[in-house]
Amino acid sequence: MTTHITRRQFLLGTGSLLALGCASWLGLVAGRTSPAGPEQTPAAEVPPPEPSPIPCHYIFRHGLIVDGSGGKPYLGDLGIRGDRIVAVGDFRAAPGAVEIDARGLVVCPGFIDVHTHTEDYLAAGGRAEMLLLQGVTTHLGGNCGSSVKDVGAFLSGINRLAINLGILAGYRVLREAAVTQEGRRARANEVAAMQEKLAGALKEGAFGLSVGLEYWPQYLATTQELVELCQVLKEYGGFYATHIRSEGDRVLEAVKEAIEIGERAGVPVEYSHVKAAGQRNWGKMALVLNLLDEARRSGLDITADVYGYTFSSNDLGSGRSSIKEEDMLLALKHPAVMVGSDSGLDEQGRAVHPRAYGNYPRILRRYCLDQGIITLEESVHKMTLMPARRLGLNDRGLLAEGYKADVVAFDPEVITDKATRPNPNQMAIGVRWVMVNGQIAVKEGQPTGCFAGEVLKGGRRLLAINHRPVATS
Ligand SMILES: [Zn+2]
Repeated sequence: MTTHITRRQFLLGTGSLLALGCASWLGLVAGRTSPAGPEQTPAAEVPPPEPSPIPCHYIFRHGLIVDGSGGKPYLGDLGIRGDRIVAVGDFRAAPGAVEIDARGLVVCPGFIDVHTHTEDYLAAGGRAEMLLLQGVTTHLGGNCGSSVKDVGAFLSGINRLAINLGILAGYRVLREAAVTQEGRRARANEVAAMQEKLAGALKEGAFGLSVGLEYWPQYLATTQELVELCQVLKEYGGFYATHIRSEGDRVLEAVKEAIEIGERAGVPVEYSHVKAAGQRNWGKMALVLNLLDEARRSGLDITADVYGYTFSSNDLGSGRSSIKEEDMLLALKHPAVMVGSDSGLDEQGRAVHPRAYGNYPRILRRYCLDQGIITLEESVHKMTLMPARRLGLNDRGLLAEGYKADVVAFDPEVITDKATRPNPNQMAIGVRWVMVNGQIAVKEGQPTGCFAGEVLKGGRRLLAINHRPVATS
């Protein structure tokens, strides 16, 4: 897990693994098709029975399997039947499957993005090419306190989705409905009304509560009020996703507040888009991560997400970078930090920040394959199983039998982001195949236009759809 590899080493490694894999695979075929010599199988021994062939609709052949668990990559096949993965590694498939040549490609679970603002675009039938071409197959919207007004109506009104979509209930929306008079703190009866509305949203499928405590009027929320709202999460299931009160000068105090809320309410916390913004705060990331470690050691389930850029949307006008790259990379490497994009898309699918079109390939290209700052298996883990666990999705984020067939095959020599500050709407390249719930959404680098995404619902109901326990990390 801690071995750092350069791009060259990685590619060399892939080459030798490929050679090894082909050789062993050929050996297997030879063993099956030619009669065994007497010295190999003494007459007294009964050969082990052949496992029965597995029926598949699709097979990715000879890919470098990076399964999402964080375990070492290996060469193998991946079998899909219907919307599920039915076999991984070395197996015999029944004839008739469509074969996808994944030689030289990394095959991994579709990327799950816990931090987005794309629900309106996706629910309106956006084709999501810019997401699929990054390998992204699931978005969680409704972050930073801003969400749809009515979770139930929103989710049931969705006709088609290019990728899977879940949402959070936003504090701003709860507040707007409960506190009619602006510019003051919520009163007890208003907090009670927000709790009731939040409970309704969770019952209808929201994954938790999001806040954006830097923003008006959300910063009027008190710590106590947020604890009381989070107690509803404890009751119905769900997590607290927090854009904390300060990402700059008072970032440490703000992280402490997020931890206090999680601890007092007894709920999991997702600390959104971690950063220590502003030059005078550079270097504070190590302290922020220490606070996370301390809270985790004392039993709080707190994780965070980070995007792979040194500038936020606030920096777009100025052209400056308010985030130190070293700080961002410290976060990216930390075991409790996953990858999220903070993507926003308008109804035409346009973004103002390049992260919506480039975040995942950028991290894979620059920080994993080229600079070796995180390994391939760690990078993929932070984009797949880690976010799946945060969402409580027990059948996504891992290439394993019984899991949903959200699959990406990308070319490690080619994959890169193309979106830049001046041209944020440039598609990434290098993703060759994407499968969403067993349907092909990108074929040989081209989006197919299929709408195979599903509406995802959070909370306690996830326990009921638990097909099998997640095995590894
Ligand atoms: Zn935010």
